[in-house]
Amino acid sequence: MKKRNSLLVIMVPVLLAIAYFAGKSQMPLEKEHFRMGTVINQLAYGRHAKKAMNEVAKRIYEIESLMTINAPGGEINILNDAAGKEAVRLSPETFKLLEKSINFSELSRGAFDVTIGPLVREWGIHTENPRILEENSISKLLPLVNYRDIHLFKEQLSAKLEKSGQVVDLGGIAKGYAGDEAIRIYKSHGISSAYINIGGNVVVLGNKPNGEPWRIAITNPRMMGQERYIGAVDVKDNAVVTSGDYERYFEKDGIRYHHIIDPKTGEPADSGLISVTIIAKSSTDADALSTAAFVLGLDKGKQLIEIMANVEAIFVTKDKEIYTTDGLKNNFIFNTDAEGFKYIN
Ligand code: AMP
Ligand code: MG
Repeated sequence: MKKRNSLLVIMVPVLLAIAYFAGKSQMPLEKEHFRMGTVINQLAYGRHAKKAMNEVAKRIYEIESLMTINAPGGEINILNDAAGKEAVRLSPETFKLLEKSINFSELSRGAFDVTIGPLVREWGIHTENPRILEENSISKLLPLVNYRDIHLFKEQLSAKLEKSGQVVDLGGIAKGYAGDEAIRIYKSHGISSAYINIGGNVVVLGNKPNGEPWRIAITNPRMMGQERYIGAVDVKDNAVVTSGDYERYFEKDGIRYHHIIDPKTGEPADSGLISVTIIAKSSTDADALSTAAFVLGLDKGKQLIEIMANVEAIFVTKDKEIYTTDGLKNNFIFNTDAEGFKYIN
């Protein structure tokens, strides 16, 4: 009897402790901050969640400092300032991302083009004073947009832009890269379940702790009525990245001028799409592909995505029709309450 009692004395606190910690590990920690011109939301489970999320915030700051063209300093600015003059040494990560950007430019036949910078600047859509460009200012800048003018010197880890006035803009891929870096950091802290949203670039690690996949909502590009989402997808270990004409834009005389520029015309892409969401393992790839597919439009964009292994997409047209790649037919959950939208299955 006595023995049994003492066993209970030991067992009860042990069980309580297990229950407490098990319960605690199910509690996510959240962090929200502002970087890369957007709100960043993180959610992570596990003992080191707080430390990991702080490290991610620091890492995103580093990436932004290296790669932005919207603030002074940074390697990409140095590269741009040396355009037409000399090669500039880059850190291995900036070099790699630039190399990757060129690959996606080739793959998309120039729909994605990291040398879009001169036009992005001139339109000023990121600034307080956006303007509508005249045809002659567009035609002056268009010859500067050509990813083939980026020369990479692998041994020296350096790059050079062929013509003076050329501007590399990693805005279409850097948030994606930051998302992949976040996942790497969560893993290095032993975290097996986390979520990060960098201004519409979502990446999830693992499943939710209860074993269910993460349900990621797809933004309604027109935000009409009460319905903020046109649907959702269930994912595990995936990036869900959206490019849309609603993210940054201004309107004049009923025309929407948005931030994704068609390198062929020099104007905001008018491909018939209002948003494209890419689902892929790599958030960097998903980011480049979402921008590329947005410029390419439904048919060519879908063709591009269908040839890539393990990459799926959701396309939303101006007519509010939603199309998905074949691999997503059983996973896209259409929100039937989204006013005016139709899922063409
Ligand atoms: P995203 O939201 O990923 O589609 O990226 C849009 C951002 O990428 C813009 O704000 C520009 O900085 C840059 N960008 C715009 N048009 C292009 C393009 N055709 N190719 C590559 N980057 C672009
Ligand atoms: Mg992108």
